[in-house]
Amino acid sequence: MAIDLQEHIRIDTIHTALLTAKQVQLRILRLDQIHPLVSGNKWFKLKHNIAQAFGEGKASLLTFGGAWSNHLLATAAAAKALGLEAIGLVRGYHGQAQPTETLIRCASLGMKLHYLSREEYARKADATFLAGLQKAYPAAHIIPEGGDNTQGIAGAGDIAAYIPTDTNLVALPVGTGTTFSGIRNRLPAHMELLGFPAMKGGQYLAEKIRPNLQVTEDNWLLQDAYDFGGFARYNGELLTFMNTFFTLHNVPLDIVYTAKMMYGITDLLEKDYFSPGTRIVCIHTGGLQGNHAVRQSLQYA
Ligand SMILES: *Cc1c(COP(=O)(O)O)cnc(C)c1O
Repeated sequence: MAIDLQEHIRIDTIHTALLTAKQVQLRILRLDQIHPLVSGNKWFKLKHNIAQAFGEGKASLLTFGGAWSNHLLATAAAAKALGLEAIGLVRGYHGQAQPTETLIRCASLGMKLHYLSREEYARKADATFLAGLQKAYPAAHIIPEGGDNTQGIAGAGDIAAYIPTDTNLVALPVGTGTTFSGIRNRLPAHMELLGFPAMKGGQYLAEKIRPNLQVTEDNWLLQDAYDFGGFARYNGELLTFMNTFFTLHNVPLDIVYTAKMMYGITDLLEKDYFSPGTRIVCIHTGGLQGNHAVRQSLQYA
């Protein structure tokens, strides 16, 4: 598993009358094809963390996430496949009698789940809190929420190698910005990188991303107009877009990240944001498991 997951990656070309009219090429890098649970960018962000855990003789991976977290589930599935234990610290989870499908799957993969209050969870990156956690779990390799550490950035950088060399614009959804940073550091300078934050007011992420970058060129941008009200928020228009996109192109999008990116790309295309001749590659970062939350409204979840 450690090696051959990336063999499943492929590129799809999207054809529409609008693309033809605007003379824009659109391709999708299907990282969602890597594995149903260890999907997309999460595998890239985990792989060096896992190597470090093995290198240091650690017995478990400990990480953080919300109740629908793709990262928690990816960590649980990777740990199980590789013979490591997994511990998941889940963000304040009050008022719901039933655990989410994601958490049920994490638990069934053997991940030990602990629920933190929102106040406790807010300390997830605090040095004192982490030192206490390491003391409580000495055999654990601790991975921050979303795999957002230097190993995560380095691993995500490997995604750049899958971008065809004739591409001039690469688009991807943004959560913590780890994947965006890793890819920007390894993408040829002439390729623009366009990020679509999944949360409200995502422009603040630019300040978080900038210190991670080893490049100085002004060749990246966050498009924060497509948050649909905030993280994990959506409306009927987005669901309709997802169903239509699947019907037309046979590409399933996830409700939290990739649907917002692809909606944004389509809207920008209609508004002539891309000049004729632009060759776009959108990165499908995976996350399809989270569609369970909206399965009643999707034709393919
Ligand atoms: C986690 C996730 C992202 C965000 O990645 P970051 O590196 O945190 O910016 C994007 N897309 C999907 C599908 C994800 O699961």
